[in-house]
Amino acid sequence: MNMAKQPQQAVVTGGGSGIGLAIAQRLASEGHAVTVLGRDIDKLRQAVSDIQGGKMEVCDVTDKASVKIAFGQIGPVSILVNNAGIVSTAPFHKTAPETWQQTMDVNVMGAVHCMQEALPAMKEANRGRIVNIASTAALKGYAYVSAYVASKHAVLGLTRSLALELAKTGITVNAVCPGYTRTGIMEQSIKTVAGKTGRSAGEAEAEFARANPQGRLIEPDEVAAAVSWLVSDEAASITGQAIAVAGGEVM
Ligand code: NDP
Repeated sequence: MNMAKQPQQAVVTGGGSGIGLAIAQRLASEGHAVTVLGRDIDKLRQAVSDIQGGKMEVCDVTDKASVKIAFGQIGPVSILVNNAGIVSTAPFHKTAPETWQQTMDVNVMGAVHCMQEALPAMKEANRGRIVNIASTAALKGYAYVSAYVASKHAVLGLTRSLALELAKTGITVNAVCPGYTRTGIMEQSIKTVAGKTGRSAGEAEAEFARANPQGRLIEPDEVAAAVSWLVSDEAASITGQAIAVAGGEVM
C-alpha cells in the first residue's frame, strides 16, 4: 500500500472556501480525486473550477440524512478531511443556547456524521486517513468564543478516542490545529472585533497576529501542507495527534 503515490478518493467538507479550498487544491494537485462538500452551491461551483478534476456535493453536514446521501453519491472514500466549521463571538453570558447548539452541530456532529459514513469502506479496505481541522482553540482557551473553543476541544477528544479505537487498522485519525488563518471566517472575526471595540480593521488584524509569536496570520496553504503529510503513506504511525500550525502559539 502506498497512499502517497496511489490516487485516493478524498472528501473535504467546507471545501468551497478558505482552508478547505486550499486543502482540496493541494490534494488534487497530488493526484487525489477530490470532492468538496458544502451548503452553498455557487461557492462550490466556483471552487470546483479551481480544483483539478474536482467534484462537489451540496450537503449540510449537520443533517445526517443529507450526509448519507452525499457519501452514497461519492462512493468509498479513503481520505476524509472534516474542515466545515463555524464561529461566533460573544461574551459567555450573551451566548444563546441556539448558538451553542449550532456550533456543536456543525463543528462536532458534522464531523461525527461524515466519519460514520466514511468509516465502513475504510474498515473494509483496512486503509484510510481522517484529518479533523480543529484549531489552537482545541488546545487552549480564548475569551469571548466559549462555544467555539468547547466544540474544538470536543473535536480533539473525538480524534484521540477514535484513533485508539482504530489503532489496529490501517486507518489514522489526526487533528490539525491552525492558529489565526487568513480566510473568510477570520475576516468576519476581524470585523466583529473592530465593530465591538471601535478599532480599525487593521488594528484588529494586528491584535490577532500578535497571538502568533511569528507575528503574522497563518496562510491556508500552510494548513494544507500539514494535511498533505498526514494523509501520506509516510504518516502511517501518526495517529491521535494534534498538529499545531500556529507559529509557536502553543507548545
Ligand atoms: P470558511 O468560512 O472559509 O470555511 C468554512 C467552510 O465550512 C465553508 O466553506 C462553509 O461552506 C462550510 N460549512 C459551514 N457550515 C457548514 C455546514 N453546516 N455544512 C457544510 N459545510 C459547512 O472558514 P475557514 O476556512 O477559516 O475555516 C475552515 C475550518 O478551519 C473551520 O473548521 C475553522 O474552525 C477552522 N479554523 C480556522 C481558523 C482561522 O483562523 N480561519 C483557525 C483555526 C481553525 P458553506 O457556507 O458552503 O456551507
